[in-house]
Amino acid sequence: MKIIRSPQEMTAWSRQQVLAGKTIGFVPTMGFFHEGHLALMRRAGKLADQVVVSLFVNPTQFGPTEDLAAYPRDFERDQGLATNSGVNVIFAPETEEMYPQGANTTVTVGEELTNQLCGASRPGHFAGVATVVSKLFNIVRPDLAVFGEKDFQQLAVIRRMTQDLNLGVKIIGHPIIREEDGLAMSSRNTYLQVEERESALSLSQALAMARTMATNGERKTEQLRAALEGFILSFSGTTVDYISFVDQFTLQQVETVDENTVLALAVKINNKVRLIDNGFVLGDARE
Ligand code: AMP
Repeated sequence: MKIIRSPQEMTAWSRQQVLAGKTIGFVPTMGFFHEGHLALMRRAGKLADQVVVSLFVNPTQFGPTEDLAAYPRDFERDQGLATNSGVNVIFAPETEEMYPQGANTTVTVGEELTNQLCGASRPGHFAGVATVVSKLFNIVRPDLAVFGEKDFQQLAVIRRMTQDLNLGVKIIGHPIIREEDGLAMSSRNTYLQVEERESALSLSQALAMARTMATNGERKTEQLRAALEGFILSFSGTTVDYISFVDQFTLQQVETVDENTVLALAVKINNKVRLIDNGFVLGDARE
């Protein structure tokens, strides 16, 4: 496995692959790999001849009070895990290479997709994501890219941007990988102390509760939201950022649950660790 740090070298490598008739699958990440990341890498390997993973903790998608400096990092461990997951190249640029002095262009996706859910409490986050992903696509020039459904709004934003800007990259969504007890895997789970780990289960258990209630006939999202809020707040140290029932395509709030309704959750534990999770309320009608 190769490690490439310079954007120019990355693009040169990709051009060589294309000339050799190889397809490129790409997985953008911020590192500190867990099984969720590795599943995306293996999926890319099934769909393309070569797999490139980027490892870049992108400063422009963090707010001023967020965890940029504290974000967990372990390059050596990541390198070993990526090698075992069939990755051909890790692209790990320096911040100065991605954002040289004078860089002054931002990609923004329309507010219907970016203002609510995580966009409401993380202003500028999706502009940071859209900008870095479009830069990475231009540097890596992949045929396809795999993103996790865990970051459900991010996936919708990337799909929109890729289509609107004719980026020519096929976007693949991959299901959420969970711990055995249901907690969605996340690099941020490492911040959780033992008791906080218990409270973190409130998200996946709330999803299960919504499914049971909806299957038993409760389709009004106002009623469901009230029940879920009570349930989540019964765990120690939890505060609710949002409990939203949205259409899977438009991300707009819905009043009544149907097959296209996704329940998206963001919960803070001890006002310290912010966790997200999501899932369909009825069946699974993902694209
Ligand atoms: P991150 O390093 O957190 O930016 O995540 C990199 C990619 O991995 C994104 O496409 C995420 O949606 C995806 N990802 C993170 N956690 C999971 C998970 N538990 N299951 C599936 N994909 C995930």
